[in-house]
Amino acid sequence: MTSWKFDWVDESKFDLNRESMTEDVSKFVEKWSDDSFKTDSELLKLSLVDYESIWEKHGYGGEEGYYYWLLNQLDLNDKKVRSKLKSISDFTRDNFNKLNFFRINLGKLSEKDKNKFLEDEELSDYYKFLKDIFDMSKHRLSESEEKIMSLKQDSGYSMWKKMLSSLISKETRKVNNEEKTFEQLISDTLSEDKKIRDHAKDNINDILNKYSEVAENEINAILNTYEVNDKIRGYSRADSARLLSDSVDEKFVDILVKTVSDNFEISNKYYDLKSKLMNQKLGYHEKSAQIGKLEKEYSFDESKKIIGKVLNNLDSEFKEVFDRFEKDGRLDVYPDIGKRGGAFCVHMIKKLPTYILLNHTNDLSSLKTLAHEVGHGINNELTRDKQNEIYFGTATSTAEVASTFFEDFVFEEILKRCTDEERLVLMIQKLGDEISTIMRQIAAYNFETELHSEYRKNKYLSCEEIGLIFKKNMKEYLGDSVDCSWCDNWWIYWSHFRNRFYVYSYASGLLISKALQRKVRSDKNFIGEIKKFLASGTSKSPKEIFIGMGIDIYSKEFWEEGLNEINETLKDTISLAKKLGKI
Ligand SMILES: [Zn+2]
Repeated sequence: MTSWKFDWVDESKFDLNRESMTEDVSKFVEKWSDDSFKTDSELLKLSLVDYESIWEKHGYGGEEGYYYWLLNQLDLNDKKVRSKLKSISDFTRDNFNKLNFFRINLGKLSEKDKNKFLEDEELSDYYKFLKDIFDMSKHRLSESEEKIMSLKQDSGYSMWKKMLSSLISKETRKVNNEEKTFEQLISDTLSEDKKIRDHAKDNINDILNKYSEVAENEINAILNTYEVNDKIRGYSRADSARLLSDSVDEKFVDILVKTVSDNFEISNKYYDLKSKLMNQKLGYHEKSAQIGKLEKEYSFDESKKIIGKVLNNLDSEFKEVFDRFEKDGRLDVYPDIGKRGGAFCVHMIKKLPTYILLNHTNDLSSLKTLAHEVGHGINNELTRDKQNEIYFGTATSTAEVASTFFEDFVFEEILKRCTDEERLVLMIQKLGDEISTIMRQIAAYNFETELHSEYRKNKYLSCEEIGLIFKKNMKEYLGDSVDCSWCDNWWIYWSHFRNRFYVYSYASGLLISKALQRKVRSDKNFIGEIKKFLASGTSKSPKEIFIGMGIDIYSKEFWEEGLNEINETLKDTISLAKKLGKI
């Protein structure tokens, strides 16, 4: 009952499917490579329908691609599966590359034609799809230039990035006769034992100091690559490319970043509480240290029961979707040799089912992870019911809304079943997670903004200069209870800074989720609006989706709603700590 079933797989058909992919792609190329789809809306619609149907049948390698991808997750060491996966991936990529002309040539339409097609009622099903292509096309280069850009991507970016992470991952330090990796040292900073935390900090500092000069060169190379790319493509700000590809804009992110930054007082107060509870000034490395542990166990069955109850209370359809995952064999629950660690929820194309992978170990975090992944799963299934293939997905800025929405309601249910002592432990942990997701990521956004703009002014930044910018931004969200005076080099292993400006999406996802939770708590009927949101896929921009729900994500007040929710929890936690005589 608790492992994946592959009832839709018929390996004997894989060869035929490949033939049909090649055939469908060549037919499309033959039919549309003369650009006739540009002439009128009727032909354009026909070409879009054709394009979509290739995705419907063969997207991501169809059955064969999905099957071997899934098998690979269950046993990463199975070389036979890996080579089958590579074979179908290469085959699919080569075929789908032949379709690139379609998007490129659509982007080359005159502004007049673009507007004409966008306004055409006949094409309304494809409005967002076309709008995205048209918006992107303003920054697109010629085909041969695009080719050079993509060939240069490895030497100007990926190889630098890989170099630093692989150097750091090879480092070990001896701790009590045991060789610990960098990852293990980082997890030692969470220990309840101060000696272990401080020792880990010294070792981490030692490793980061060793590579600071390498990191300085690496980050300057990456900053340079981004600057050059932006200039060539005509992006005005360092974050513009990211925002455009996520269907949001500068105004959206500016309001989010400013509102969260203006509320750093909340995270300052949280670390003040934590420092009082731990009876010490916190070091930068201790900001996430554990205070107390929960001994309770949550078996998979128990977790299922709790989550099922919460889902049913919100809306019976949520519970039905959840039950179907298990009944149909879409959950792989327990750890196994070779199986990928962590957890995920995955979908590819509409005709193939959603799968959830877990590594359930009966602790509270396994229960929360199940709730989180089921949230993604419900999001998928509601979208599947309502959207066409091209809109079957979620926008980056809202990808984590559903998962955190359900996770939080489940957390509320867990709290009800706890003693006051346990509640304090859980609330401190939960607030810490939320502050890391919102305030810390926005502080990281501010750091990135300053990093790119200082680089663009000075054309080179020393490690010392970067360290100062980093410390300043960390200090702002952590406050006076955390000692940041020595954390100059701790940006080095934060890999997101190489994948620029992605971090805002963690904050936007959770804050939107918090605001929606607040609305549901005050009006149970609002769940209807939540279901509409969950079913919207990528058919509209986040702005349009929320306007349809009566929410303006361009207003400061909206973001404050989510922040207030956290502030309220913090106040409750402080009162509870006082009541228990802990502070
Ligand atoms: Zn997630």
